Amino acid sequence: MRIKEILDDTRTISCEFFPPRTEDGIPAVIRAVERLKPYSPDFVSVTYGAGGSTRAFTEQITTEIKDQNDLEVMAHLTCVGQAKEEIHQVLERLDEAGIENVIALRGDPPQGDTEFVPAENGFSHASELIEHIRGNFDFGIAAACYPEGHVESKSLDTDLEYARLKVEKGAEFLITQLFYDNEDFFDFTRRAEKAGIDVPVVPGVLPILNAAQIRRFTSLCGARIPHALDEQLDRYADDDRAVRDLGVEYATRQVEELWASGVPGIHFYVLNRSYSVSRILNNLGLPGHAGPE
Ligand SMILES: Cc1cc2nc3c(=O)[nH]c(=O)nc-3n(C[C@H](O)[C@H](O)[C@H](O)COP(=O)(O)OP(=O)(O)OC[C@H]3O[C@@H](n4cnc5c(N)ncnc54)[C@H](O)[C@@H]3O)c2cc1C
Repeated sequence: MRIKEILDDTRTISCEFFPPRTEDGIPAVIRAVERLKPYSPDFVSVTYGAGGSTRAFTEQITTEIKDQNDLEVMAHLTCVGQAKEEIHQVLERLDEAGIENVIALRGDPPQGDTEFVPAENGFSHASELIEHIRGNFDFGIAAACYPEGHVESKSLDTDLEYARLKVEKGAEFLITQLFYDNEDFFDFTRRAEKAGIDVPVVPGVLPILNAAQIRRFTSLCGARIPHALDEQLDRYADDDRAVRDLGVEYATRQVEELWASGVPGIHFYVLNRSYSVSRILNNLGLPGHAGPE
């Protein structure tokens, strides 16, 4: 089923996983998905890696989740390092495997590079990939957006304009980059509405698992850690369990406020660690997503 149809019908909970580096890591990813199945996620998604075999694993895991776990899935796809024809072939395989939803992304520059360079005969921006998918396939299409602006964008306004372009080219809903101050999300959705973006904007939430990791992630993607949260991270920095508990507590409050504000759904960046997300969903007991007794 296309996710847009699910969003038309209900407020969604979705969970994002990433493919392992080697094939023997696949069962662990599937187990992480299965641990969240009792919470009835409306769909799960699998990210697209920087290259090689992990990309094949995205296709493999997405298909396995759909066929064997009876969950709706969304495959991530980027423009990094692949010519248009190669990306077209990936889309053909996803289509043949019965995958109905993709999130179309540009992707980040490879590690060590500061600038995104399109592959020879490749796509330069997510909007071009979206246009290609819309013109050649019948997938439900999502795209990314950035409440605090994308790291490379010149201004919030130009970034928003490109988000609008992705919708114009065929993105049916948007999922945000992680953020830790809900005001950034509320401000973004107000600006998006004003700019004529009329598709659901689903907030992406990453429960903090580790202090060093979240500082690295936020600095890479240009997200801000609010001062009070930063101080708490400092206090517990050497105690991973305390940081994880803080992450669960913080994300619970964040999601509670977002849900109360009427968001169309919540997209959890699970990072293949289902425990924190299951605790958050237990804490919240969201209607239709209450989870195990
Ligand atoms: C929900 C979500 C899922 C993600 N999943 C993955 C994943 O699976 N794999 C992965 O590698 N990465 C993933 N990412 C990260 C993403 O690839 C990076 O944030 C990347 O740097 C930008 O991707 P984009 O699709 O937003 O690109 P674009 O929409 O192409 O934007 C990239 C930059 O170019 C600018 N821009 C856009 N269009 C134009 C234009 N026409 N002319 C000039 N400038 C333009 C934008 O303002 C922005 O600064 C994900 C991000 C999110 C939020």
